[in-house]
Amino acid sequence: MAGYNCTNLVEELGDKLSVIRGRITENAPMSQITWFRTGGPAAILFQPADEDDLSAFLSLLPQEVPVFPIGMASNLIIRDGGLNAVVIRLSAKGFGFANQISDTELVAGTACPDKRLAVKALEAGIGGMHFYHGIPGSIGGALRMNAGANGRETVSCVKEIHAVDRSGTKHVLSNADMDFSYRKSGSSRDLIFTKAVFEGELTSKDDIQKAMDEVQHHRETSQPIKEKTGGSTFKNPKGYSAWKLVDDAGCRGLTIGGAQMSPMHCNFMINMGQATSYDLERLGETVRQKVLINSGVQLEWEIKRLGDFPSGQSVEPFLGQLL
Ligand SMILES: Cc1cc2nc3c(=O)[nH]c(=O)nc-3n(C[C@H](O)[C@H](O)[C@H](O)COP(=O)(O)OP(=O)(O)OC[C@H]3O[C@@H](n4cnc5c(N)ncnc54)[C@H](O)[C@@H]3O)c2cc1C
Repeated sequence: MAGYNCTNLVEELGDKLSVIRGRITENAPMSQITWFRTGGPAAILFQPADEDDLSAFLSLLPQEVPVFPIGMASNLIIRDGGLNAVVIRLSAKGFGFANQISDTELVAGTACPDKRLAVKALEAGIGGMHFYHGIPGSIGGALRMNAGANGRETVSCVKEIHAVDRSGTKHVLSNADMDFSYRKSGSSRDLIFTKAVFEGELTSKDDIQKAMDEVQHHRETSQPIKEKTGGSTFKNPKGYSAWKLVDDAGCRGLTIGGAQMSPMHCNFMINMGQATSYDLERLGETVRQKVLINSGVQLEWEIKRLGDFPSGQSVEPFLGQLL
């Protein structure tokens, strides 16, 4: 990542940081955070204490400093050269809550795991959020990705979203402001979501529990959820299932270095133990190339890829097939 060099940022900000209450870590290893357990370090990792702290920190940063929010990193490949950026990870203490606020509404901080929101909804007898039970991310990631499963998506139950922009200004957004579409919110990339209000319908707890059990059973029997993975690698193109295109192109079980297209669910990539982010990205682009040749369809990554390649290394989209 060219541009501002973040390596000395903490020194440059000096005493200004004395007002900050959250935790700042320099050269923070991202491989300890990502679900894939790969990736180089972030120049700075900031874990704000609360929304005011996040706002104060962002207002101190020169505008040229790149900032990336991350949640549980269950949908991320961070490249092996790391991130010359400030990575913001909201603390569980300040942003991990989930509370009932009316008969049919819950409010959750964006570090709250999706699973916790589903359990809270069950306890409150609020239906429509059971699908979160099987998604291993945070509410922040669910808002950015319009996370969904079992025919439901975040767009179907989120009502109000609170966020802080790159300059530290706070915003409140409606569902429509989020510009949700399949696995995406089109809202400004500048926004870091901090909390959200969810609304469902009054439902019997037995029915919610049954729906959650079905979600769990489906996952355990069809997805490699105990592996180091990132969930679905590619989005389903209109009219197709990504896994079927991958399968038809002969890529089930395809292995590059330590990375493999799961034999159990071939739209899931897995780190078999020693994979690098380079292996994972090369595998993904190899699959895209093979699918393009086999079916003429251009698969689109669902997994987000961030950061720099180590010098001398790169992976071209479709391995250069489209160039
Ligand atoms: C085993 C497995 C199963 C999965 N199954 C599903 C599934 O059924 N359905 C589904 O939709 N996904 C699924 N996923 C993918 C992933 O869990 C979701 O996309 C999840 O919503 C990502 O949340 P996260 O907190 O891990 O976000 P991250 O992976 O950390 O980040 C994803 C994106 O969200 C942004 N982001 C994160 N937090 C914030 C914030 N506070 N403010 C602004 N932007 C933010 C990041 O910048 C990044 O662009 C699965 C993943 C795994 C590993």
